[in-house]
Amino acid sequence: MKAIERLVVVGGVAGGASAAARARRLSEACAITVFDKGPYVSFANCGLPYFVGDVIREEKSLIVASPELFRDRFNIEVRTRHEVMSIDRAAREIVVRDLESEREFRVPYDALVLSPGARAIRPPLPGIDLPGVFVLRTIPDSRRIREWLQEKDAKRAVVVGGGFIGLEMAENLAHRGLEVTVVELADQVMPPLDPEVAKPVADHLRENGIKLRTGHGVESFAESATGGLEVRTADGDTLETDIVILAIGVQPESGLAREAGLALGERGGIQVDRSMKTDDPNIWAVGDAVEVIDSVSGARLQVPLAGPANRQGRIAADNIFGRDSSFRGVQGTAVCGLFGLTVAATGVGEKALRRDGNENYEVAYLHPGHHVGYYPGAKPIHMKLLFDRRDGRVLGAQATGEEGVARRIDVIAMAIQMNATVFDLEEAELCYAPQFGAAKDPVNIAGMIAANHVRGDHPLARWEWIEDGVLVDVRSQAEYECESIPGALNIPLEELRERADELPRDQTLHIYCKVGQRGYYATRLLAQRGFDVRNLSGGIQTWEMFR
Ligand code: FAD
Repeated sequence: MKAIERLVVVGGVAGGASAAARARRLSEACAITVFDKGPYVSFANCGLPYFVGDVIREEKSLIVASPELFRDRFNIEVRTRHEVMSIDRAAREIVVRDLESEREFRVPYDALVLSPGARAIRPPLPGIDLPGVFVLRTIPDSRRIREWLQEKDAKRAVVVGGGFIGLEMAENLAHRGLEVTVVELADQVMPPLDPEVAKPVADHLRENGIKLRTGHGVESFAESATGGLEVRTADGDTLETDIVILAIGVQPESGLAREAGLALGERGGIQVDRSMKTDDPNIWAVGDAVEVIDSVSGARLQVPLAGPANRQGRIAADNIFGRDSSFRGVQGTAVCGLFGLTVAATGVGEKALRRDGNENYEVAYLHPGHHVGYYPGAKPIHMKLLFDRRDGRVLGAQATGEEGVARRIDVIAMAIQMNATVFDLEEAELCYAPQFGAAKDPVNIAGMIAANHVRGDHPLARWEWIEDGVLVDVRSQAEYECESIPGALNIPLEELRERADELPRDQTLHIYCKVGQRGYYATRLLAQRGFDVRNLSGGIQTWEMFR
């Protein structure tokens, strides 16, 4: 293989900066140049909402590494405000424009890494280009938003899009004292999550003063008579506001690759193999611009996350310098903090499984404390685990809660990456001291519930799927009288052995309690007496999530 003497990287943030820095660690001999059309490289896009919200006070805190640091520490030449205009694949050269002087010049490469990221979607709606309608991708974007908020003394904001970035922006604008309305086309916030998991998120946002308008998109923007903006929604409403933030998703920035004739996927992402190489043997591509494979479902999709972009940059550099490393695919592990609530997910959700026609999955719900109940301050984690009912392979998990959520989802993320099963979750040895967890960690409990189902010891039932049979509430009479499901019989667990004969043997018994634990004991008790019995997963607390 010819020695790589000149490596050129397009885009110097998550994927590009990782590729360049890794390349230097593998080759001291190679000349490495990074071009970025923006004024900064290696900045913290993920921190931008918090800079808008004044949680991060100093703009300079967002700069992770400067061009000078790249030069002095890594001997990497970084040229900001330089846009790569085209790729001459035959000559192995790129055409670069210096955005200050407008001068264009050609730069040769032996290996080229494309990490141009994604751009915010701006649909061609009337008024979308009005002053006061913003997207957030870059430090200058965040600066402009801050300046607008100050200049207009903004009191109201409309955020279009209720996904991770939209909701982070909603929280941060509320943190600055604005009255915030989120408009979301889907009929739930956080559209990648399953609706019942997203419901407590919506409740929590409302409790914190965010107005939610789900189920209707935005149709147009206009200037209002009072000098603000009007946002018209598809249901015919008009919202008055001082600022609009558009956060309705991103599109891969793959124009450069397309014009160079590189293969693109159906959704416009650059196609790469597991070494992150494109269909040109001298060009690699990483980050938001590439199409990736979902490691659980095998689907080809676009997943704009910083972790995969960083890993892909490293893998591209490895392969350029002859190391055999490969990208394992994505599983969409993501987390978001909103007014003290954590929402996290990994792997596939039920919506995606149903969309793919998968009929072999099962679901377990649980609501354990983030640490043992006897130590003060335990907070519930509401978790949904998805697994293959045939072999127990873990497919995905979603959870919300105030404490300890990300840690559990991270453990399950690793389990998914290792192709683990619910039997592995049962056996996982995890940290425990009273203030951190429990001897049976929520991850173990999730594994036990699911594994007992796969073994046939503890058949689970789903609240939304009960059609016939008998509902049996095994909580205390006091709990039953406080709140119960219409039509349910009440036989407290403690009386069940004596009163089991009151239950019919020719119908399915659907058992429930508060969170599923007493329901599990009751299910075992009744199953051993020959009843056809199922435990309603997660008990009445799960039922609440569906209401
Ligand atoms: P980017 O980091 O976007 O970098 C692309 C760079 O390429 C840009 O600087 C651009 O100027 C440059 N460029 C493009 N075209 C050219 C060209 N022709 N010539 C020269 N330069 C070019 N992910 C998470 O995992 N967690 C989070 O909490 C999170 N929060 C986010 C919050 C916000 C507001 C945003 C915008 C993103 C967030 N992300 C988050 C996503 C994450 O930032 C991206 O997935 C990641 O930055 C992608 O890296 P990348 O290298 O592909 O692209």
